[in-house]
Amino acid sequence: MNAEQLLTQLNGLKAVFEEKEDELTQLDREIGDGDHGVNMKRGFNAVAEKVSDGSAQDILKQTGMTLMNSIGGASGPLYGFSFVKMSEVAKDEIDNDNLMEMLEVFSKTVGDKGQVEAGEKTMYDVIVKSANVLRETGGLRLKDLQRLADETEDMIATKGRAAYFKEDSKGTVDPGAQSAVYIIHALGEGAGND
Ligand code: ADP
Ligand code: MG
Repeated sequence: MNAEQLLTQLNGLKAVFEEKEDELTQLDREIGDGDHGVNMKRGFNAVAEKVSDGSAQDILKQTGMTLMNSIGGASGPLYGFSFVKMSEVAKDEIDNDNLMEMLEVFSKTVGDKGQVEAGEKTMYDVIVKSANVLRETGGLRLKDLQRLADETEDMIATKGRAAYFKEDSKGTVDPGAQSAVYIIHALGEGAGND
């Protein structure tokens, strides 16, 4: 995936999050404050509007800054800062090996900044296992990523707003885990995976 293809994938997330707004809103209504759908839509609308041509590194950095300034909530700084950090390892031509490095940085950044571990029912549960999916399956198929988000359904949240729901957070997929599926899928598609 070169810089132009990367930009196409990131711009494409505008339509994805427009389509998935209701789904994410619904999940965040169950175990949060119901704003995750609108937050993600606003973030990737801003990316499509503001991020301009440049190197892959420039594009990822601009995307991170734009997400930080537009998503808001707990997820804004986590996604925003992650894209900034991924820009530091991205190559001009992002192949699956480089994508693996980027996913590892994505997961380390969210883990450090969110002070979160696997099993706490957050976006981290999808992000941390995505590099493994790529390694084991040679791709980032939607159904494999979706399985990771679905695994959060039975977890009890211990981070973020969902933690206030304690046991009652069981039975709902984490909204951030669901949005992470779409972001990682888009990056994988750009690198030639389906
Ligand atoms: P807010 O919770 O402030 O309303 P959003 O609704 O946009 O923000 O995002 C909620 C998502 O953010 C959660 O579903 C979860 O995946 C993620 N999240 C919240 N806190 C953390 C954290 N400490 N570490 C990792 N992810 C988190
Ligand atoms: Mg919310």
